[in-house]
Amino acid sequence: MKIAILSRNPGLYSTRRLVEAATSRGHQADVIDVLKCYMNINAQEPSIHMLGQALPSYDAVIPRIGASVTFYGTAVLRQFETMGVYAISESVAITRSRDKLRSLQLLSRKGIGLPTTGFANKPVDIPDLLTMVGGAPCVIKLLEGTQGIGVVLAETRKAAESVIEAFMGLKANIMVQEYIKEAGGADIRCFVIGDKVIAAMKRQAAPGEFRSNLHRGGVASVVKLTPIERQTAVKAAQIMGLNVAGVDLLRSQKGPMVMEVNSSPGLEGIESATGIDVASKIIRFIESSRRPQIRQARIR
Ligand code: ADP
Ligand code: GLU
Repeated sequence: MKIAILSRNPGLYSTRRLVEAATSRGHQADVIDVLKCYMNINAQEPSIHMLGQALPSYDAVIPRIGASVTFYGTAVLRQFETMGVYAISESVAITRSRDKLRSLQLLSRKGIGLPTTGFANKPVDIPDLLTMVGGAPCVIKLLEGTQGIGVVLAETRKAAESVIEAFMGLKANIMVQEYIKEAGGADIRCFVIGDKVIAAMKRQAAPGEFRSNLHRGGVASVVKLTPIERQTAVKAAQIMGLNVAGVDLLRSQKGPMVMEVNSSPGLEGIESATGIDVASKIIRFIESSRRPQIRQARIR
């Protein structure tokens, strides 16, 4: 197969591993920077171009679109889809997962466990919003944040009120969330491919920190999941429509709670914590699910 990997940087661990895995399984893999692509959108022969040349045809595309280029990146991915190329994760699913609030609303509709989350527009509603999520301590999150940036633990009601007010004053979209204290500064990253969790790790926050992101000094280790945790992770990925997803869970007294479903989960942390060749599993999934006839059907 000829596989396009949409990534801005061929030197990134995840990108390198996907190229390696594809090549070692006998495929050709090209890394394509979405920001260098431009598109011809028409009804007869839609195409994607780079530096004056049309891109060759591909059998499959693996999007690794960073949060900062979601808009342009998903537009390029949509163009691949329009051209009939099999996308392991479709553009709509990526757009959906990038909006934390929309994701939680979709998951809640299907009965997935979540930390109780409040969303409001006016400062006058803050006291009631705080009561809804169980008062202080609570977690305040910027909707557009990643890697733990813009996630605040407010210890007291007063602190929560002033932080929320400040964010609202800056016109930043935030959500307020029940603090899952019993998670003990740890979360579980479930790496889902298709209908299976193929690898999982526990991330423990650095001392004095409640955010377990590896970028915030969290430490990863292997973890054994319960059947209910597996089911929750797979179901969450399926609700989002993602064939590849990093589902982050908190272990709470009420069972697993989904915090977030990541559409471009990093490979470095999970491969080094578990020793599992996640990149090859992604390539194998493409081998087993790509259907050439879809391509035909779409072109017509
Ligand atoms: P990001 O997308 O920026 O990583 P998250 O929502 O995943 O933001 O939050 C970052 C970290 O903060 C999580 O990995 C988790 O350790 C901690 N955390 C987030 N929400 C809660 C919560 N409601 N209760 C307890 N810990 C939380
Ligand atoms: N995309 C980030 C990385 O490749 C990690 C995102 C995540 O999975 O939390 O390191």
